[in-house]
Order: sequence, then C-alpha cells, then structure tokens
Amino acid sequence: MYRTHTCGELRLADAGQTVTLAGWVQRIRKLGGMTFIDLRDRYGLTQLAVDEEAPAAVRSAAGRLGREFVVQATGAVVERTSKNAKIPTGEVEIRLAQLAVLNAAEVPPFTIEDESDGGEELRAKYRYLDLRRNPLRRALALRHRVAQEARGFLDAQGFWEIETPFLIKSTPEGARDFVVPSRVHPGEFYALPQSPQTFKQLLMVAGYDRYFQIARCFRDEDLRADRQPEFTQIDCEMAFVEREDILRTFGGLMRHLFREVLGVALADIPRMTYAEAMRDYGCDKPDARFDMRLRELTALMQGRGFAVADGAQYLGGLCAKGCAAYTRKQLDELTDWVKRPQVGAKGLMYARLGEDGGIKSSVDKFYAPDALRAVAGAFGAQPGDLILMLAGGRRQTLAALSELRLEVGSRLGLRPKGVFAPLWVVDFPLLEWDDEAQRFYAMHHPFTSPQPEDREKFASSRREDLAQVRANAYDFVVNGVELGGGSIRIHDAGVQQQMFSVLGFTREEAERKFGFLLNAFKYGAPPHGGIAFGFDRLCAMFGGADSIRDYIAFPKNNAARDVMIDSPSRVDEGQLRELAIAVAERKK
Ligand code: ASP
Repeated sequence: MYRTHTCGELRLADAGQTVTLAGWVQRIRKLGGMTFIDLRDRYGLTQLAVDEEAPAAVRSAAGRLGREFVVQATGAVVERTSKNAKIPTGEVEIRLAQLAVLNAAEVPPFTIEDESDGGEELRAKYRYLDLRRNPLRRALALRHRVAQEARGFLDAQGFWEIETPFLIKSTPEGARDFVVPSRVHPGEFYALPQSPQTFKQLLMVAGYDRYFQIARCFRDEDLRADRQPEFTQIDCEMAFVEREDILRTFGGLMRHLFREVLGVALADIPRMTYAEAMRDYGCDKPDARFDMRLRELTALMQGRGFAVADGAQYLGGLCAKGCAAYTRKQLDELTDWVKRPQVGAKGLMYARLGEDGGIKSSVDKFYAPDALRAVAGAFGAQPGDLILMLAGGRRQTLAALSELRLEVGSRLGLRPKGVFAPLWVVDFPLLEWDDEAQRFYAMHHPFTSPQPEDREKFASSRREDLAQVRANAYDFVVNGVELGGGSIRIHDAGVQQQMFSVLGFTREEAERKFGFLLNAFKYGAPPHGGIAFGFDRLCAMFGGADSIRDYIAFPKNNAARDVMIDSPSRVDEGQLRELAIAVAERKK
C-alpha cells in the first residue's frame, strides 16, 4: 500500500497514529537541527518533520530532497508546536521514521504555489505542473462538480446521456468547420461538429424524447480573447414541448446548479424580449445587476442646428447617478475610452445636472436649458446626475452605449461579484440580413422555427417581411454573459425546405447538405426543441473568473495553439501523400 492517508486528511484527532503519505515536495525548510517538508497531493498539504532523533537513513534522504520530488513518508502524527490555522491539516505534523524517494525531479521552471512566479506562457508550456497549483486544482474540482450536478439533475428528469459522433459532415452554426481528411476515401473530408445539433434532432425523430450530452464542440473562428477552438456544452433536446416547457426545465437546471454548486438561490428568471434588450441596454445580453437603461433621444435632439445630432440615425444616452461632479479630466478620459476602436464612438456628449438645478452640457451652444431639461426628463434624472450621450448609426451607437453602460456600471461598483442576475432573452429575429453577401443568415441556426404568429410573414418572399419574423429562440443570460441558447425547432420538412430557400440554398444544395434531416422529417418527426449551455463559461462564472481557460484542463492559448504539445504542427509529407493532400509549400 503506497499510502494510508492523503495529504489533506490528518487532524489533531489522528495524533499518535502511524501513517504513510505519498506526494510531492512543495517546500523544504531547515530550522536549527530540524527539517520541515511540505508534502502536497490533490487533497492538500501536510507537514513532515525530521528531527535529530530521526533514523540516519531518513536524515540523509531528507538532505537530498528537492522541490517536486515524489516521496513516500511514514511516521507518527504529532501535535505541532506552532500551528498553521490557514490549512486544515495545520495542527499536526508527521515525525518521520521512513522516507523513500519514489522519483527525483528537476528544479521546476516556476514555483508551484498559489502565487506562482511563472508567466502565463511558461505555465502553459508546463501545464501539468501548473495543474498542481491550488487555483487550477480548485477550478477543475468545480468543473467536475458542475458536470456531476448537471448529470444528476438531468438523469432524475428522465434525460438520457447519448454520445454523438465527432467525425461528421458540416453543421452550420455560423462558424467554419474543422475538417479531417479521410485516408480511405481520398479527397473526401469529415467535419468536426460545431455542435451536436442535427444529431440531437435526429434522436428526437428516433423517439428518445429527452437527451443530453456534455459535448465537445469545434469551431474554427477567428482569434479573439478567451475563445477556444474546442469547447464544451451541456447540450439538451426534448420532444413534445413548447418554449414554456423548455424554459421551465432548464431554468430548473440552472437553479439547481447555482444552488448545489454555489449555494446561491436564484430568484425567478425574468424574461425580456430581444427588442426590449436592444432598446434599453443596447445589446442582446444585458447585465441586469444594475438598471441604468438607455434612452433614445433622437427626436428630442434633432432639428436644433446641431449637425452631429441631425446627421445621426440614432442618438441616445444613459444617466450616471450622482456623477455630475465628474471632473473635466474624468470626462476627457471617458471620451477617449469611447473612442477606442473596441468601442468605436466618434465622441461623447454630456450634460451635468447641478445640485442647484442648473444644467451644464457639452452642447450648450445648440440646446437651451429647456431642451436639456427635456433630455434630463427622459431619464428621470435628478440634480447631481450626469447624462452621457452618443450619436451615429443605430447599430454601432447602441453597441457603443452598451459598452459605456458596462464601463460606468463598473466604475460605480454596480457589478459586484457574487451577485447573479439571470434573464431569459426571447423573441430574437429569425434572420439577419447581410449587406455584403446580399442574403439572409439565420440568427441562431437554420433549424430554428419561426414564432407561430409570424408564420405568414415567413411565407412571404419580401425582404421587409422576412426581416421582421421572430424566432422561437431564447438565450439564458447572466450578468451580461450568454450562458446558453436554444430554440424550438422546425419539424416539418416543407418549412425546413422553405428556410433553406430563404437562406439562399438551391434545392440541390439543401439536399446535398441536409438531405438526411429533410428525409428524417418525412418519417414522423415530433415537435421538439432544446438548448445548449456553455459549460466552460458556466464554470468560469461559478468560479468568479473572467477567463474560461483555467476551467479547461488543457486549453489552447489566445492564438489557438497548444504550446505544451506544440500544436498545430506540420505532419510529414508521407502522411500528407497518404491523405491525398497536395504537399504544402514549406514556409521558411
Ligand atoms: N446548437 C445550438 C448552439 O450550439 C444550441 C441549440 O440550439 O440547442 O448554439
């Protein structure tokens, strides 16, 4: 037996016992004639002590130890004279009677402690060492917990966990596919799933009316901070349901996870339509921890000879409570902030409501006090408040205002960690017109059904009608983060065919790409719908982290590389030839 206990287990009540532990040497300290060794494993840290009475073999082995050596240590549990209240095992130590080095270790490239001295790149290269650190160990423990709780809840609700294949053919979720060349079928390719979407729908056709899977998804998207080319979803589908059934079931799942994992009782999950979200928050995933709604001011502010307002498609703003005392410098700084390319506004207008009832604005030249008071009225602003305004194209200005709202909210401390404001955002548009490609794209995916009330518009061939069709789709949003999304699906072959045609597929193309689904719909497809939650993001949110990377055991970096195994990398020419792929020109 390698060990009788783990390094996280022993307490004062165990004093007197002889135990054997195994683990990694985190630290060695010499104090007078004593040597103290912190021994670490997944469960914790226990102090080993070697005194002058220890057997000579133990003293000599202790003298040769280095950081991260793997050892097996046997001795008596004794009460410590100087206790460490910070760790659960801090009241005891092991007086060593035997010490065996199971494996020596080179000096690690960074310190393996809660605060490491290693930079990100270095730690990524030695991920297996970084994973020994507490913060990462805790993150993966949390991930495990969330997975088990999700499984338990869904199993209890009658969901079956079913795996779907990785080597498939393209499923359009709006990203590029990763493709895999087939050796046995030269010139042909599989695609890795962007999600199990079509398969879960086929499972509904098969009659397995409650499915889930903690599924890996692959999307070949452009690089962006905190985006992983492969990520995990809690993917779910149900048959014989309407939207309400889905929102109830999966609101229940979320409530369960928040309660069991975090000890947080989520209140009712309010609904907001996409139109409301865009109007009041400028985005489809509002951070509802704070109010600070946007107001459109276009009509109020146009026609006063102010070219910026008159030339704008949209003018709107927000009211920062109690911020009238912002200095010129602070306002200039905010102005620079909104002009950053990530926010992209041209400039920032403001109006300060003085405690004396007066209003001072950056646009005084064009607006008399009365006009400004009307603006203040639109926000229900009070003396001491600051109104910030942006103008420009509707889409861009709303997006910039949404960013500004989050920034001001953060500055005012309105976005505290540990407070969770969940929302269902519903009634998304079904289609999005792309000016460049001169065609519609599905906002969610092409299998999403139109709202029943909008069926007629969907049948129309007029662009204006189609643009107004709402989808029977929903997103689960918490604190400005989209944690999940799904829809009621099309289950009628004719409607699906019509959808493909609206998206500009010819009959042949639709047949070639999705013939299997259209066919399946001919053999008794039940009404169905589902949802998928971003599992990595959910874990990061539960852990209070901004990045999902720490919640994935072996993630890629921001350049979509795994620097530990050095991937992607070239394959040899023989392998390419075997795959019938022309040998790529070697880059210098
Ligand atoms: N497959 C969708 C997605 O990955 C989720 C769903 O509609 O269930 O976003």
